[in-house]
Amino acid sequence: MATVHGKIVEVMNVSKTVVCISCFKKVTPKIDKVGNCESCKVMQFLSSCLLHWYLRVLVQTNENEKRRLVCLIGGAQYCLVIGQREL
Ligand SMILES: [Zn+2]
Repeated sequence: MATVHGKIVEVMNVSKTVVCISCFKKVTPKIDKVGNCESCKVMQFLSSCLLHWYLRVLVQTNENEKRRLVCLIGGAQYCLVIGQREL
C-alpha cells in the first residue's frame, strides 16, 4: 500500500469505466442498457454497475517540494493509489 501526502497541483487525465458488481472487472456494453463482465461473464444492467474513476494527477509533496506523478482509482467511497513515480 502506498500513501502520498501533498497537494494536487495538476490533474493530467481523467477517465471512467463501468465495473462488475460482483468481481469489479470491466463491463462491456452489449445491448441497450445491458453489458457483460469480461471476467465472470455475468450479464447485468449498466445502471446497477459500479463506476471506477481513473485519475493521473501531479502531486507536490511536502518533502523538499518534490513532484510525483500519481495514478488513482476509486469510486464515491474510496480512492486508491495504483502507481506513482517521482518526476
Ligand atoms: Zn464480474
